[in-house]
Amino acid sequence: MTSPLRPSPVSATVDFDADGVQHGFLRLPYSRDDAAWGSVMIPVTVVKNGKGPTALLTGANHGDEYEGPIALFDLARSLRPDEIRGRVIILPAMNQPAFAAGTRTSPIDRGNLNRSFPGRPDGTVTEKIADYFQRVLLPMADVVLDFHSGGKTLDFLPFCAAHILPDKAQQAEAFRLVRAFGAPYSVQMLEIDAVGMYDTAAEEMGRVFVTTELGGGGTASARTAEIAIRGCRNLLIAAGILQGEATAAPTQWLDMPDGDCFTFAEEAGLIRFLADLGDRVEKGQVVAMIYPTGRTGLPPTELRSRRAGLFTARHFPGLVKPGDCVAVIAEEIDG
Ligand code: CA
Repeated sequence: MTSPLRPSPVSATVDFDADGVQHGFLRLPYSRDDAAWGSVMIPVTVVKNGKGPTALLTGANHGDEYEGPIALFDLARSLRPDEIRGRVIILPAMNQPAFAAGTRTSPIDRGNLNRSFPGRPDGTVTEKIADYFQRVLLPMADVVLDFHSGGKTLDFLPFCAAHILPDKAQQAEAFRLVRAFGAPYSVQMLEIDAVGMYDTAAEEMGRVFVTTELGGGGTASARTAEIAIRGCRNLLIAAGILQGEATAAPTQWLDMPDGDCFTFAEEAGLIRFLADLGDRVEKGQVVAMIYPTGRTGLPPTELRSRRAGLFTARHFPGLVKPGDCVAVIAEEIDG
């Protein structure tokens, strides 16, 4: 680590301490062929009404996931200061270059924003965005909601989630907000690759962090968009920021206790699923077959579930490669 860190090159066109509604940008200088003194412009809305907690709401941390941007462009347009107490900071397109390109990672530097924390003020564009969240936005926040979905390569049962944490009070508050969000499923989530994640950065700073996986395949359905819009308002009500009545529906709790939840491909080929999202599967059940595609006459490889549970996430495209996550099986638990 170098220290002391230089100031962030990002400048905000909004005043985070002013009451009222402001629509503006985080402006990040980015010199390039088509704009010598150009910038990356990340849309931001701040809605503030006096003293109270701050919620930091983000979509498109990964650029090909759409429920969060839909919910947050909608909220930014409609939320009024007289409806709230405290402050709501809304960034529907957190990794704006990736969102504009419709890709998971940034087309500028291939940076995966959710593996770039704590970031660097003198790093790549993606690292500079991470650094601004790490040192400017996260310290302002009490509650953080970061929307995810499966993107182009995964599809999920719609769920809201939080992590098991060493600080049990922080963990309990996160799961209280997950329940309030009211997605059809609520998950105690295990990360297979937690280093550099926004989640980890927020949690290590003591923030109450809630995330989602609301669908996938590189689009949003009517149902999953509505879950995102309703859940976001429910969470703000439960956090004591937004007035009104929550409209939560019943939720099924799921646990992802260990690495046996994940099944990975070891061959390339054409995938045929034998179970769909939401199906109950047994340990050892064949959940998919991978057909070799280079020639005819070869048998498919069987992929077996490594635990019993609910089929919670799957690979989305029809072709798989070695190492791809093919299936996630979570355990149904009482909430
Ligand atoms: Ca994601």
